[in-house]
Amino acid sequence: MLESAFGLFSCDLAIDLGTANTLVYATGRGLVVDEPSVVAMAKGPGGILGKVLAVGVDAKRMVGRTPGNIIAVRPLKDGVIADFEVTEAMLRHFMVQAMGRRSFAHPRVIVCIPYRITEVEKRAVMESARSAGAREVLLIPEPMAAAIGAGLPVSEPIGSMIVDIGGGTSEVAVITLGGVAITQSLRVAGDAMDEAIIAYVKRRYNCLIGERTAEEIKLAVGCAAPPPQPIGIVVKGRDISTGTPRQFEVTGEDTAEALADCVSQIVEAIRHTLEQTPPELSADIIDQGVVLAGGGAMLRHLDDVIRDVTGLPVVIAEDPLRCVVMGAGECLEKPELLKRVAL
Ligand code: ADP
Ligand code: MG
Repeated sequence: MLESAFGLFSCDLAIDLGTANTLVYATGRGLVVDEPSVVAMAKGPGGILGKVLAVGVDAKRMVGRTPGNIIAVRPLKDGVIADFEVTEAMLRHFMVQAMGRRSFAHPRVIVCIPYRITEVEKRAVMESARSAGAREVLLIPEPMAAAIGAGLPVSEPIGSMIVDIGGGTSEVAVITLGGVAITQSLRVAGDAMDEAIIAYVKRRYNCLIGERTAEEIKLAVGCAAPPPQPIGIVVKGRDISTGTPRQFEVTGEDTAEALADCVSQIVEAIRHTLEQTPPELSADIIDQGVVLAGGGAMLRHLDDVIRDVTGLPVVIAEDPLRCVVMGAGECLEKPELLKRVAL
């Protein structure tokens, strides 16, 4: 059934519909969309959302900068659809972008979803992709796609641990024989780190900064542990006492302190998952190591901290932001693999 569903000549898509970023892989062409999951919309009388003004990169630029009549929405929260209509509009936009001139052909679509999603949430994803123009929708668990994308031996009787640190959630999973053996998901990931930086800067520098500036700090100097060499970035914020804009430097040390709580929660989740892992699979993880994926995997020294606490080898996936979509793309190209991992 799956073979016929994914015929050779159609243009099919694999979509990583993430809280922070949406990526699309098209058969034969590879990665064709890689944009923030943000939609800018007109706000009508009574706050009713109207026309879509911008999607993706263009919309993200507007976050925190919109006038009263425009609103920048992130339609996914904690890995699931929070705003159905806006998600649908965003998906349609990215699917059209991915199909290009082939837009007339309704594609068959694979969507990656968090492992512990409810039936209602699953249906929302499928509906959303269908009404955005998909002829057929298949779901695969995100940790599985991430593991495939990271090159782990998912179909073999070997245990692999993958930790996907995204925007809204971090998911820890142990995978073996094409299935997810154990998972744990926590709502501490990139967004929580940005919020922690905002709160820290407010306390330490008496200054208010927005989400975008917080993320900029995290990307430029964010550290999970104090850096061996001092690093810093100059940013602008609004002084709380004077109410005027002010420039100041935030250091890597600052971020290590700001992010300590987020980091320890992620590390705890890994430790907890390891404790529940059957011994044979644990033995494999000692050999294979823990593989980090998602944008959060790139936080400086996070791998060191996890290595120190668990005593296990830790590897950052080659392209952590693209692991999930590349893994799903591989399933699109390999029907046997897809049959094995599809929900
Ligand atoms: P999702 O799958 O939820 O959309 P992603 O895997 O795309 O999330 O990761 C996005 C998150 O990763 C964002 O919070 C972003 O700020 C964060 N991120 C991206 N690059 C880095 C980096 N170099 N260091 C730390 N965090 C990063
Ligand atoms: Mg993700």
